[in-house]
Amino acid sequence: MALRIIVGLALTVVAAVVAGRRLWWLQRLARTGQPAPERVAAVRAHPAADARRQATEVLGQRKLLKWTVPGIAHAVTFWGFLVLTLTIIEAYGALFSKKFAIPVIGTWAWIGFAEDLFAVAVLAGIAVFAVIRLRADPKREGRRSRFAGSHTGAAWLVLLLIFLVVATLLAYRGAQVNTGDFPYPSGAFASQLAGRWLHPLGTGANSVIETVFILGQLAVILGFLAFVTYSKHLHIFLAPLNVLFSRRPDGLRELQPMRSNGAVLDFEEADPDTDVFGLGKIEDLSWKGMLDLATCTECGRCQSQCPAWATGKPLSPKMIILELRDHAFAKAPYLLAGSDEARDRLPDAVKAEAQRPLVGDSAAHGVIDPDELWSCTNCGACVEECPVDIEHIDHITSLRRHQVLIESAFPPEASSMLKNLENKGNPWGMGESKRTEWITELDFEVPVVDGPIGAEVEYLFWVGCAGALEDRAKKTTKAVAQLLHTAGVNFAVLGPAEACTGDPARRMGNEFVFSMLAQQNVETLNEAGVRKIVASCPHCFNTIANEYPQLGGNYEVVHHTQLLAQLVADGRLTPVTPIEEKITYHDPCFLGRHNRVFTAPREIMEQVPGIKSQEMHRCKERGFCCGAGGARMWMEEKLGKRINTERIDEALGTDPDTISTGCPFCLVMLGDAVSAKKSSGDAKESLEVVDVAQLLARSVAPPPAAAAAMTAAAPSGPASPSGPASPSGPASPSGPSAPAG
Ligand code: SF4
Ligand code: SF4
Repeated sequence: MALRIIVGLALTVVAAVVAGRRLWWLQRLARTGQPAPERVAAVRAHPAADARRQATEVLGQRKLLKWTVPGIAHAVTFWGFLVLTLTIIEAYGALFSKKFAIPVIGTWAWIGFAEDLFAVAVLAGIAVFAVIRLRADPKREGRRSRFAGSHTGAAWLVLLLIFLVVATLLAYRGAQVNTGDFPYPSGAFASQLAGRWLHPLGTGANSVIETVFILGQLAVILGFLAFVTYSKHLHIFLAPLNVLFSRRPDGLRELQPMRSNGAVLDFEEADPDTDVFGLGKIEDLSWKGMLDLATCTECGRCQSQCPAWATGKPLSPKMIILELRDHAFAKAPYLLAGSDEARDRLPDAVKAEAQRPLVGDSAAHGVIDPDELWSCTNCGACVEECPVDIEHIDHITSLRRHQVLIESAFPPEASSMLKNLENKGNPWGMGESKRTEWITELDFEVPVVDGPIGAEVEYLFWVGCAGALEDRAKKTTKAVAQLLHTAGVNFAVLGPAEACTGDPARRMGNEFVFSMLAQQNVETLNEAGVRKIVASCPHCFNTIANEYPQLGGNYEVVHHTQLLAQLVADGRLTPVTPIEEKITYHDPCFLGRHNRVFTAPREIMEQVPGIKSQEMHRCKERGFCCGAGGARMWMEEKLGKRINTERIDEALGTDPDTISTGCPFCLVMLGDAVSAKKSSGDAKESLEVVDVAQLLARSVAPPPAAAAAMTAAAPSGPASPSGPASPSGPASPSGPSAPAG
């Protein structure tokens, strides 16, 4: 027994020192980051929600289980380790007493059964992981593997260690069965089986095996725990913390305001020499950002869903996190050095790491290449997938903010968009009077707000820049207006008083321009006394609903598909004209994934007689971006395959007559890709991309024969609703969304 106690406790002390030093170092590194008082305040304010989130995300493994096979394998391994905590207590107890049993429950057969069941389940789980890793070996699969870029050697070592944890457990328990030291008279089926295998060796040998493997079990567990603190498996400890301090509801929807030293940056007072402007150096990350880096499991789920990565661009959300993490760890001695003298004494490699720019090409030895940074469409697929709630978009935006605001370094083709926003209030630089031209193409009056909005006006229709100025999007605008008019909804528009919501500027990283436009719009809306808004652009919808509250703009905001679906459900709009077409619906990222509006557009299509809906493989939460978000609409797409082409290739796989969507930017991007496909003969000439509102307007309109009869009978009566075939307005604004090549 003395041997067991001495060796067991010595192993524990060594592991505690090794792991403790690392954990101490990690917390010191995290504390070099910026404060994040809002995260602590949010946790304090919502204890019940926090508990629910821990129950579903951590204990329930909700996000992991979205991927069935690896999810179940991870869940049984995770739950197995929770249950096997009992066996660790038993192993420690056996150091001091051969016949140790956990008080009260330690001889219950079902406890022994549960321990063995989960031990076997963990073995099955790691076998599944091994097969998954072999099948997705990045050496063979290249960037198609979600593990491309991950530290795969450490992952294999961890699988081996987990195998050894279970193997040593069953070995000492089997020996205990033969020496009479096993606490469970029945139930522990796997231990009993191991005991039968070891029985022929005799009691003396089993006694030695018992001692050796109890110590072996502790050595492996302690070695595993120490190794974990130096590897990606640190997520075992950090994931619950990262989930606890993650954003609410999550890292989608709104962007956060810029912060410096924990306080929201006031641009009137801010000083670039003393304040933090985005992410310019690794220590500009908040401690929560550092926690994100240390928590990444390198699972590559985010990478596998990223449209930029899928189309051959250099951006991988996983690699952004890993590159920042590797840099933070390499720069850590510099950050943790207490004085300039201590920094001078650091190795040259550390000093060189400290000088690396966070964003820079290979010549500048940057941590993140500009092509990675500017490839992001803010689609949110990475945030949606990440099982440990890492907030990729926030980090990418912070990097962009520093590049734009301090370095003035961004894709040059986007500069005219920013200038136009500043000078004209829309990305195309068109005059504000153009914003109402679409109204003149309708055959009914649309009130334009001038002063306080009337009490009789239920909705302000937020048209958006594309909806007012881009020919294809204007068809959606007119269809929405026509449908609201037909349903008897009292609505008005801001007309020339409407400015861009600022979304493209904010997603580019230009928080100045966003603030300017957002404040202007909030002022206009508040002065008009607007309460309810219907927006036809998901980017406007997201910005007004989720970001304007940061500036004192609080409104009830719906997307047009939500309002139209409700009007159909209420019987105020009745689709009658059949549309005998096979239609596949493309989920706009800022409507679907960011704001969870998945059903309304589909409900509308279900109500239109004749429509046969066909989902694409990547839909709803897994919808694939059109390539326009994150201000990518105003940047050239020079690298890899065009994202809109990739999406259209998938849509064409359903052999559709029409592709529908609910966003003007998706409409333009997908329309461009369809035009290119038609030119190359890869798509039928009749294929069109339309907004769901256009489909509904077509169906709500009376059939042509009835319309003709109505016209003949009542030539001076109200005109029929104008559908998507309405004449186009003035020439289309020319943006960089040139036809897909
Ligand atoms: S937001 Fe979309 S494009 Fe950007 S890194 Fe995440 S998955 Fe990739
Ligand atoms: S960021 Fe999240 S999803 Fe991506 S590799 Fe890390 S843990 Fe996995």
